Amino acid sequence: MKKHNFSAGPCILPQEVLKKASEAIINFNNDDLSLIEISHRSKPFVAVMEKARSLALELLGLEGKGYKALFLQGGASLEFLMVAHNLLNKKAAYLNTGTWSDKAIKEAKAFGEMVEVSSSKDKGYSYIPKGFSIPGDADYFHCTSNNTVAGTQLKEFPETNVPLVCDMSSDIFSRQLDFEKFDLIYAGAQKNMGPAGTTLVIIKEDILGKVERHIPSMLNYQIHLDKDSMFNTPSVFAVYVSMLTLQWLKDLGGIPFIEEVNNKKAKLLYNEIDRNPLFKGIVAKEDRSIMNATFVLTDESLKETFDKMWAEAGISGLNGHRSVGGYRASMYNALPLYSVQALVDVMQELENKVSK
Ligand SMILES: *Cc1c(COP(=O)(O)O)cnc(C)c1O
Repeated sequence: MKKHNFSAGPCILPQEVLKKASEAIINFNNDDLSLIEISHRSKPFVAVMEKARSLALELLGLEGKGYKALFLQGGASLEFLMVAHNLLNKKAAYLNTGTWSDKAIKEAKAFGEMVEVSSSKDKGYSYIPKGFSIPGDADYFHCTSNNTVAGTQLKEFPETNVPLVCDMSSDIFSRQLDFEKFDLIYAGAQKNMGPAGTTLVIIKEDILGKVERHIPSMLNYQIHLDKDSMFNTPSVFAVYVSMLTLQWLKDLGGIPFIEEVNNKKAKLLYNEIDRNPLFKGIVAKEDRSIMNATFVLTDESLKETFDKMWAEAGISGLNGHRSVGGYRASMYNALPLYSVQALVDVMQELENKVSK
């Protein structure tokens, strides 16, 4: 049986998607050629790219609303730079809620004035700051919807008149949001969509064209839009697998369906973390992430025993990020409820063992 995969990223993908993807590596489209040995400008691949782009907009409810989707390379990390390169004229406002926000801020600083509206860095990013204000003359406001490393998540997004930019790498397509509030959304594929190697960027076209600097072609959103996400050779395999995952999600019932499953999984695990005296959470309860649950043992001396027990139960990828320690259970869209149940069972077994 396949392992219960709690990896934070790259991470679990639907089994049926992996099967179709592996078939396409050998024989794509019944053309007796591999997906990765045909031209990206061939009809079958152009159709894949177009389908992936339209499924992304459709699932987010953004079709026909002035948005376009791109599948770029360079990961979410390159978007830290591209966002600023394309949108920052004089001043940008950023909310610092985690390791990834911090990196985005570092990249953007080179392009203009940086206003960090609030930060939870002083407390190890264990909560989401609230009640901050965003300068009305900022070129845009940037936030991270889900903090993959710390395990916190923005439940609400600020009302603001400035363009709203969001790094949704680790919770895109996991919950319903009013996506029309956002002017630019980006997400590396490898957390909830596909293999590493492509990044989904959703842009409201009217926010572009407002900076004066020269933008190198590969970093220029407008050029990628004009070329229908084919300015250069895209990551054909990563885009194909992303397309399959988006189709899988659509067939299941889209974001409303998966959100319900995700809430069930998170509830099951957090209930156990709160109930079981051997475990405790490490972030503010109201800010807990539905995707990445972080927790620690209340008695560190049980680490070896617990680590052995979960590994023997077929659980994988549970170690916390090296900067945080403890445990992190990443419960992305493709992780089934029974995998979370398997983890909860092991947590209860540990409790039984200790109380004997
Ligand atoms: C993983 C992650 C990134 C970095 O993604 P890369 O594709 O490795 O550059 C950025 N932001 C968030 C929220 C992430 O989870």
